[in-house]
Amino acid sequence: MARRPRSGPTLWPVSGRLIDSFGRVHRDLRISVTDRCNFRCRYCMPAEGLEWLPREELLTFEEIERVARLLVEDYGVESIRLTGGEPTVRARLTTLVGMLSRLPADLCLTTNGATLETMAAPLAEAGLKRINVSLDSLRRDRFEELTLRDGLPAVLAGIDGAIEVGLDPVKVNVVVMRGVNDDEVLSFARFGREHGVVVRFIEFMPLDADEAWSDSAVVTQEEIVGIIGEEFPLVPVERTSAPATRFRYEDGAGEFGVVASVTRKFCDTCDRVRLTADGQFRNCLFAVDEFDLRGLLRSGAADAEIGEMFERAVGAKWAGHGIGTVNFIRPARSMSQIGG
Ligand code: SAM
Ligand code: SF4
Repeated sequence: MARRPRSGPTLWPVSGRLIDSFGRVHRDLRISVTDRCNFRCRYCMPAEGLEWLPREELLTFEEIERVARLLVEDYGVESIRLTGGEPTVRARLTTLVGMLSRLPADLCLTTNGATLETMAAPLAEAGLKRINVSLDSLRRDRFEELTLRDGLPAVLAGIDGAIEVGLDPVKVNVVVMRGVNDDEVLSFARFGREHGVVVRFIEFMPLDADEAWSDSAVVTQEEIVGIIGEEFPLVPVERTSAPATRFRYEDGAGEFGVVASVTRKFCDTCDRVRLTADGQFRNCLFAVDEFDLRGLLRSGAADAEIGEMFERAVGAKWAGHGIGTVNFIRPARSMSQIGG
């Protein structure tokens, strides 16, 4: 793609590539549009919620679009995922989806699915192509216990709604926790096969707001694949830079994936950068430092200055997180505040 001329002064020669000191090229952007949520998933948010960001601290849609456009058009970002908090609680989300869908990048959304039954059609009309729905139990009582909302019927209707309007693929994210929902691994595999959705099992990570995580709560990729493989013969799918390790059902009934952030970290192929709802640029989910893009955007910075901050942030990226080692430092903000 032809590079646009930059506006304003160039501080020093910028490369126009998001390449870090380990040679990883960054092509994936995760944008959190809000820190708020209408669920209270036990492993993510305390029952009373968190202290929400004041409205004026959230990036506006125009600010988000500017950052995304620069990253796509000048820095080779190829995919954008909207997340939160719960992205669908941000007012006029479809307007933002419409703005971002005009960029030449793959656009996706991660949602808890609570309002998806009614939102799937407007989101698809605004230009959304695919979606991930988080769902940790197929049992209504357990779902309520986990999210503090009696929301299973709505989420299931939302998944059906997403399929009906042609969002493709529809993926279902399941965080597997020992003694909580690990007895549902096979039920989720069957659910994926029957509904034609891709289930992605996620290892529980130490980003829970109440800091209750322990490594014994993590159900590993090996365990998950072992449980499913006993029932359905599996064929491994070749790995890409995407975080999930994928497996195909030998009988042709689709595939599932495992995001093994804890036991098989994929940091060496990580190509992701993040923008928080309050405009902080992060080079890693587990980063302890953030780069204040909002300050720059609101001080009238030229594109070149913003680009320089992208490059500085990516240049400072570490080799990887140290979950499970003495080197691990827990980020100050939880998953919903960073944007999962
Ligand atoms: N509210 C939306 C949702 O639930 O899909 C988007 C934000 S949520 C923080 C994004 C994803 O992070 C969800 O799939 C959720 O299950 C996952 N998540 C949250 N806390 C987690 C943790 N401590 N370990 C692993 N995954 C987690
Ligand atoms: Fe909300 Fe998603 Fe966190 Fe659940 S995982 S509390 S739905 S942000």
